[in-house]
Amino acid sequence: MTSSAELFATAQQLMPGGVNSPVRAFGSVGGVPPFMVSAKGAYLSDADGNDYVDLVCSWGPALLGHAHPAIQDAVHSAVDRGLSFGASTPDEGKLARLVMDRFGGVERMRMVSTGTEATMTAVRLARGYTGRDLIVKFAGCYHGHLDSLLAAAGSGLATLALPGSAGVTAATAAETLVLAYNDREAITAAFAEHGDKIAAVITESAPCNMGVVTPEDGFNKFLAETTTANGALLILDEVLTGFRASDAGYWGLTGRTEGWTPDLYTFGKVIGGGLPTAALGGRAEVMDYLSPLGPVYQAGTLSGNPVAMAAGIAQLTHATPEVYAHIDAKSLELQGALTEALTEAGVDHSIQRAGNLFSVAFGTSETGVHNYAEAQAQEAYRYAPFFHSMLSSGIYLPPSVFEAWFLSSAHDDEAMNKIFDALPAAASAAASAVPAV
Ligand SMILES: *Cc1c(COP(=O)(O)O)cnc(C)c1O
Repeated sequence: MTSSAELFATAQQLMPGGVNSPVRAFGSVGGVPPFMVSAKGAYLSDADGNDYVDLVCSWGPALLGHAHPAIQDAVHSAVDRGLSFGASTPDEGKLARLVMDRFGGVERMRMVSTGTEATMTAVRLARGYTGRDLIVKFAGCYHGHLDSLLAAAGSGLATLALPGSAGVTAATAAETLVLAYNDREAITAAFAEHGDKIAAVITESAPCNMGVVTPEDGFNKFLAETTTANGALLILDEVLTGFRASDAGYWGLTGRTEGWTPDLYTFGKVIGGGLPTAALGGRAEVMDYLSPLGPVYQAGTLSGNPVAMAAGIAQLTHATPEVYAHIDAKSLELQGALTEALTEAGVDHSIQRAGNLFSVAFGTSETGVHNYAEAQAQEAYRYAPFFHSMLSSGIYLPPSVFEAWFLSSAHDDEAMNKIFDALPAAASAAASAVPAV
C-alpha cells in the first residue's frame, strides 16, 4: 500500500495543505500526518499498517467507538432503502424526538449537515427574531467557520495564532463583540453600552476549542439571565459537548439542575453518529421564525438525509447511562495517569476539565486557564514532542494543545493500559522541550 508520506506528498498537490480541514495537516506539531484506512472500536489503522489507540474519536462522533455494530447495521439497512429522497422521511422526527427527550427547552428542531450551518442559522435566526444586529461571542470559542464568528475563534485558529481570517469584511467583524470568557463584568458592561442592539450571546456550553476551559460556577446561568433581561437570545453551542459531556451535553451538568434553558441550542458531531448531520433547536416561538413558517430563510438539499438520520438514531439510542458512566470513569483514570506522569517528569501543568472532556495546559499550575489569553500564554511548545512520543507509541492524540481529548465506550482496559504505558516517555519529552527561537 502507498505510505502516509507518499499520500501526504501527493495530497499537497491536490488540496491546499494536503487536507480538507486544517488541523489534519499537523501544522502545530509538525511531521507527516498518518493517513487512516480503517477504524474499529478504540483503534485507528493507518496506510503504513500501524494501529493507534484513538483519543480524537473523529473529534467527538465516535462516542461508542468506531464502527459500532448497531450504527453500522442501521446505516447498511438505510443505504438499502436509498441514499437521499429530497423529501421528508419518518426518521427525521424520530431523531428530533430523541434530542427533545434529553435537552430541556427544545420544542422545535431543524436538521442541517454541519455544525457551522447550525450556528450560522442560529445567528441569522436570532437577528431575524430580535430585529437586532450585534452578536456577542467569547475569545477562544469556536463555532464553525461562518464569517461573523471567526473573530478570535479557537480550534485551528488558536493553533495557527491568527487573529481571525482573511476574507471577512470589516463590516461583518464590526457586528461581532468579542469578550473574554468567564468575565461577567465584561458581559454586564457590553449590555449596558449596547443592550438594545445585541441580538444574541453565543457560547460553547463548555469551551473545548482553546483546550478545555471550565465555565465558572453559574456562568452559563448568568448568560441566560442577562440575555433574557435584555431581550436578547442565548445560543448554547453544544456541537462538541452535546451527547458527550453527559446524555444532555454540558447543559445536562449545569442548566438541568440550575433550572434554566437557552433560547437556542446547536448540535453536531455526536448527533450524526459519524455521518454529516447537525441541528439547531429551541423555543417554538423563536424556531418558528424559520422558513417556511417565518421570514428567516434556511434550507438544505441533504438536510435530514435518511442515512445520516439512521446513524444518529442508532447512536443516541445506544448512548445509555452506562456509556456515559464508562467514559466518565475512563476520563478520570486518564487524567490521573497523565498528571502523574507529567509530575514525575517535573513538567508544570494543569488539567482543564469540563465533565469527561479535558485537555492539558503546560506551565499553568499556579493559575489554571480561565480564558483565551491564559490558554495562549501556556508553554505550548511542550506539546509537539509530547504528541510525537505518544504517536510513536501508538497513541493518536489531538494534533494541537488547543483541542480536547476524546474517549469512547470502546476504550477498555487494554486500550487504556496502552495509553498509560506510553505516558512516561512522552512526559520526559515534554520536560526536555525548549521554546522555539
Ligand atoms: C466542531 C464545532 C463546530 C463546527 O462544526 P462543523 O461540523 O465542523 O462545521 C461548531 N461549534 C463547536 C463548539 C464545535 O466544536
